[in-house]
Amino acid sequence: MFLKDKTALVTGSTSGIGLACARALAAKGANVILNGFGDPAEIETLRAEIEASSGGKALYSNADLTSIAAIEAMMRDAADAFGAVDILVNNAGVQHVAPVDQFPIEKWDLIIALNLSAAFHTIRLALPGMKARGWGRIINTASAHSRVASPNKSAYVAAKHGLVGLTKTVALETAQSGITANCISPGYVWTSLVENQIPDTMKARGLTREQVMNDVLLAAQPTKQFVTVEQVAATALFLCRDEAAAFTGANLAMDGGWTAQ
Ligand code: NAD
Repeated sequence: MFLKDKTALVTGSTSGIGLACARALAAKGANVILNGFGDPAEIETLRAEIEASSGGKALYSNADLTSIAAIEAMMRDAADAFGAVDILVNNAGVQHVAPVDQFPIEKWDLIIALNLSAAFHTIRLALPGMKARGWGRIINTASAHSRVASPNKSAYVAAKHGLVGLTKTVALETAQSGITANCISPGYVWTSLVENQIPDTMKARGLTREQVMNDVLLAAQPTKQFVTVEQVAATALFLCRDEAAAFTGANLAMDGGWTAQ
């Protein structure tokens, strides 16, 4: 329970990678603040499960992170409840796919606000508490798209590249404060979001399940294996350890070789 008495805020933790990170951090004793959208009853079940596993407290914030006021309220609530956020996992993110000359302006604004600017706001608001305690871990879920581009993903690629730049800057500014700031950059991760695309793609393209997985989804991923949410969470957990203190300003690729090409 090496995270006992630490508090972790994980944005976008009602599903997927964020939920796995919240579970992993709680299992090592951290208080957890969950955030994201979803069915209130299901979220309450998750919150209670996570609280029970941690031996500490778990709270839930329904803050919409495209709103600066909502982020500020969430960070105030976190400070009121726990004094400070020790571990900040900026993970909430969305995608939209369209050619740049047809990219809906509101989708551009949404993706930049959520996938990039929200991390700036949570970081600027968490840092004073981390500095006061002389310890902090900032972990940003970037993507293989923080290292390489794909067509039709201009906003996502721009936001994820920007997130890496923000992370490097924060790492330099906090280098002597006991705080580290890093990105984890997964390739394709096996989430329900990915799984749900398979039947439609099979039908639309007349392909088998295996063809959709290997030739469409995993076309760029040399291992032909999806990254799992548990693998990403284990990496986040490692970054919280004292042994990981020298990792700062890093962008950790866990993409089955995608960006080695
Ligand atoms: P997901 O859809 O399962 O999770 C996204 C989370 O963000 C959910 O909890 C959702 O409720 C929350 N969210 C969405 N809009 C929000 C808003 N406005 N305010 C607050 N919360 C909001 O997706 P995931 O695959 O677990 O993605 C998590 C992160 O991992 C994202 O940043 C994504 O870009 C990144 N990522 C995913 C993959 C992948 O293949 N799944 C690969 C690389 C990077």
